[in-house]
Amino acid sequence: MIVNMSDSATEEQIEHVIQRIREAGFQPHITRGTERTIVAAVGSGGRRHEIEALSVAPGVDNVVAIAQPFKLVSRQTRPQPSVVDVAGVKIGGEEVVVIAGPCSVESREQLLETAQAVKRAGASMLRGGAYKPRTSPYEFQGLGVEALKILREARELTGLPVVTEVMSTEDVDLICEYADILQVGARNMQNFALLRRLATANKPILLKRGPSALVKEWLLAAEYLLSGGNSQVVLCERGIKTFETATRNTIDLAAIALAKELSHLPVIADPSHGTGKQSLIGAISRAAIAVGADGIIVEVHPCPERALSDGPQSLDIPQFERVMRGLSAPLRPVLAPTLHLARA
Ligand code: PEP
Ligand code: MN
Repeated sequence: MIVNMSDSATEEQIEHVIQRIREAGFQPHITRGTERTIVAAVGSGGRRHEIEALSVAPGVDNVVAIAQPFKLVSRQTRPQPSVVDVAGVKIGGEEVVVIAGPCSVESREQLLETAQAVKRAGASMLRGGAYKPRTSPYEFQGLGVEALKILREARELTGLPVVTEVMSTEDVDLICEYADILQVGARNMQNFALLRRLATANKPILLKRGPSALVKEWLLAAEYLLSGGNSQVVLCERGIKTFETATRNTIDLAAIALAKELSHLPVIADPSHGTGKQSLIGAISRAAIAVGADGIIVEVHPCPERALSDGPQSLDIPQFERVMRGLSAPLRPVLAPTLHLARA
């Protein structure tokens, strides 16, 4: 339930509501907006009627039920968009954020060359997998700690904050020492032990949508992080499984717009995994931004044909530079007569 305080509510009145929410057996979560404060009562097993009765408490405007099962993630709880600060790079603000780098860190030379090139082309963050979730146990599994050290060196060299995937609760502390934001990969979106552990980590989380997850399930996975204490969450649409085989996954652009509508969390798109095809990355990046994505994450490799993972969807450096130029170009003009007719 949500207790909407009136715009003239005093600190004492807000404090009273918080206290009553606790007494009724719920956890209070407070959002202080520019105009008014919202206090959400979340949890299970509390006495709802006691929260409903707060509608007549001093300083309370109204009490409403939260329509969705995800409570803290919902726009109802926080109408203004959240901005996640990743070592100074703001995701969810005015500017579109571009995260670029190889699927996997393969060597010092490969990562440092890529990091410098993507920085030069205008990327604001660096990606690179150290622990890789691979479909086959015989495929390259990542360099582990060695890769984390190389990522740290690349960050020092370029100043780009670093994102890398965490697959296991055991690795959380170690990865937190090296990365600025931790990625939960698509396959781990519903690894609830991992989500619970990351809820107490002191780093932002990039939460990918599972390949067969509903938008509701994706937002509920984010709810694990927020309800456990970590509100620094960025959602990432990376394509879902459909009957289509011409692309590796089907990137769900509507889900980006929907997630932005339902939630205050920033949402980015991953056109690399979302399509599996180099040639589509530019178009889909632009489309994602057009539907409201706060940024994109793309795979870049100095020599995609030699990549140890995800070569076919990795851009080489000139291709990445072209994608970056395409992102700053305006969208196609709309035929003026059509507009005219529509208005008449
Ligand atoms: C990746 O980012 O390289 C990756 C494995 O992503 P996903 O979890 O979306 O497949
Ligand atoms: Mn990859």
